Amino acid sequence: MHSLPLMLLLLTVGSHGFPAISETQEQDVKTEIVQKYLENYYHLNNDRERIAKQKNGGQVVEKLKQMQKFFGLKVTGKPDAATLKVMKQPRCGVPDVAQFVLTEGNPRWEKTHLTYRIKNYTPDLPQADVDQAIAKAFKLWSDVSPLTFTKVFEGEADIMISFVWGDHRDNSPFDGPGGVLAHAFQPGPGIGGDAHFDEDETWTNNFRNYNLYHVAAHELGHSLGLSHSMDIGALMYPSYTFSGEIQLAQDDINGIQAIYGPSKNPIQPAGPKTPQVCDSKLTFDAVTTIRGEVMFFKDRFYMRVNYFYPEVELNFISLFWPHLPNGLEAAYEVVERDEVRFFKGNKYWAVQGQDMLPGYPKDIYRSFGFPKTVKNINAAVSEEDTGKTYFFVANKYWRYDEHKRSMDAGYPKMIAEDFPGIGNKVDAVFKKDGFFYFFHGTRQYKFDPKTKRILTLLKANSWFNCRQK
Ligand code: ZN
Ligand code: CA
Ligand code: ZN
Repeated sequence: MHSLPLMLLLLTVGSHGFPAISETQEQDVKTEIVQKYLENYYHLNNDRERIAKQKNGGQVVEKLKQMQKFFGLKVTGKPDAATLKVMKQPRCGVPDVAQFVLTEGNPRWEKTHLTYRIKNYTPDLPQADVDQAIAKAFKLWSDVSPLTFTKVFEGEADIMISFVWGDHRDNSPFDGPGGVLAHAFQPGPGIGGDAHFDEDETWTNNFRNYNLYHVAAHELGHSLGLSHSMDIGALMYPSYTFSGEIQLAQDDINGIQAIYGPSKNPIQPAGPKTPQVCDSKLTFDAVTTIRGEVMFFKDRFYMRVNYFYPEVELNFISLFWPHLPNGLEAAYEVVERDEVRFFKGNKYWAVQGQDMLPGYPKDIYRSFGFPKTVKNINAAVSEEDTGKTYFFVANKYWRYDEHKRSMDAGYPKMIAEDFPGIGNKVDAVFKKDGFFYFFHGTRQYKFDPKTKRILTLLKANSWFNCRQK
């Protein structure tokens, strides 16, 4: 099975690694994880004995299916590897099925000027950093809504923020390091609106686990009346993935504005949109093979099709490669070296599987011999059999020899001459089973390099199992 290597790597992301244990113990651990997760986030009845008796039937399967549907997993009703992977990811403690929101209508603050107070501080960070992280998190929401937030230093504020651990007497005990990171309460009096952070976590102001600004921005969404979003690009998505820049996605903005109306700012703020994989207008930044799979890149995201995600898996590029920039422009694989190279502007990065190779980014001039007039690469693809790599830049292309490590003489040449019919600009390209697949806008051309002919014209997203519309 070709897709195995990268899949195994992915499975290690977010898991905490169990010590070596026997198979039965492993089974028990698995059952425990599933049970706990469904109890916590899917209102699974925690009457253990009853569940044990009808282990394979009923509620657990139904709740598993609900959970799998929410996360866009294959809906099997079984705790397969992909499902367990999601369950082991650190996340927010607020359930995904927030019935109160659905049944009682949107809970909301009936005023727009709100107060907050930081009741105590984590020792993990200097106080000023905590103040700043919280203030920035509030600003994300006030920038896109009519809401304002004023910090107070005593008395009862609308939103009380605290760092607490274990059982802190709100019927939602924290669970030690990992697992649940924080939770917050919907708008209302008393505990309503309050946000609690698990002091058993290490809070940071960088990419290390767990970034306080990031988690606070999410929790405050709950404090203001939002529940979890199914949009993986949204801050209100329940699992934690650090993705560099912390920002509200358009989905978050739509959510808060649905409750409180638009911002007072005459220019309405916008946020990044998550690619809609089955949108016929979908285009790509770059596409490459990697260890037998095909990966598609767009903005902050990658997409691919595999066993666990039969339709398509979409997630942050940073999940695999935290140090790659967003908005990649080209990518290609050198199979012989088990290496994938990513391009943006005049720089490029190299990876092996999930590992970034040291010494990058490098510039494209010294490494490949491009003239300084080339500012960026639109697309690239390498031929395994010849060791030749094709770089597409505007309406021209270069050919580079991976063995000699030099640009072949006589280049650049015109794309239109050697790849007739694909247009005069390429967004992305990859090679599979002897054919080139060129992407330009929403179009994709299957091209036979031997006959220099286009074999098929496809939609760019033809590799995703979208239902025909
Ligand atoms: Zn949450
Ligand atoms: Ca925890
Ligand atoms: Zn709490």
